[in-house]
Amino acid sequence: MKLKHLAIEISKLNGFNNPKIELEQYTTPGDLAARWILMTAQLGDLEQGSKVLDLGCGTGVLGLGALIFGASSATMVDVDIDAIDIMLENAKSLGLEEKVVPMCKKIRDVGNIDADLVLCNPPWGKQKQGADSNFIESIKSLCLPTYILHSSSAKHLEAEFLRSSWHVQKLLSSPFDLGAIYPHHKKRRMSTDATLWRLTPP
Ligand code: SAH
Repeated sequence: MKLKHLAIEISKLNGFNNPKIELEQYTTPGDLAARWILMTAQLGDLEQGSKVLDLGCGTGVLGLGALIFGASSATMVDVDIDAIDIMLENAKSLGLEEKVVPMCKKIRDVGNIDADLVLCNPPWGKQKQGADSNFIESIKSLCLPTYILHSSSAKHLEAEFLRSSWHVQKLLSSPFDLGAIYPHHKKRRMSTDATLWRLTPP
């Protein structure tokens, strides 16, 4: 699949209506999401028919992007029912709703899921320190190949997984537009750097 085609399809999806600051709701841009998904395929973790798990799915760009690529199912977890509703509308607009398993739950309540890989852009803990810790714990216990985007300034992610004997690879860094969606953003647009990591269980 062509990068440009996937990026265009993902970019057409609806974003958050009223993003919730306490949940750090930022949407991964279509071009970055598309690069991310094609990289998981190049590295052999995503194939036609794979089952993906999107932790903190928001409006669905990652899991739905994987379905556009050819995954057979996407379990989509988010604590916010409004995000899940938009994700389901997005799935319908693609004709992919039958491949989606929505789960409106806190990450810490997710338990074991039948999946081949995890895609995750969690809250980075910019609003509430440690907001990503339940995601990290969940990823460790799922023990699946995982692709996670995090603030480039975060140092704890790599350290945490290395300590647990995971293989950790930095795949790319990219400017990440935080938009001008929250009142505390005084500048019109806010951008930061994000790093995509591949985490492989021991
Ligand atoms: N994955 C999407 C959204 C990223 S924003 C994308 O890349 O575009 C982070 C998402 O995590 C938000 O949708 C937020 O509602 C969700 N979230 C935050 N804390 C959560 C928790 N404890 N359990 C489940 N979802 C959570």
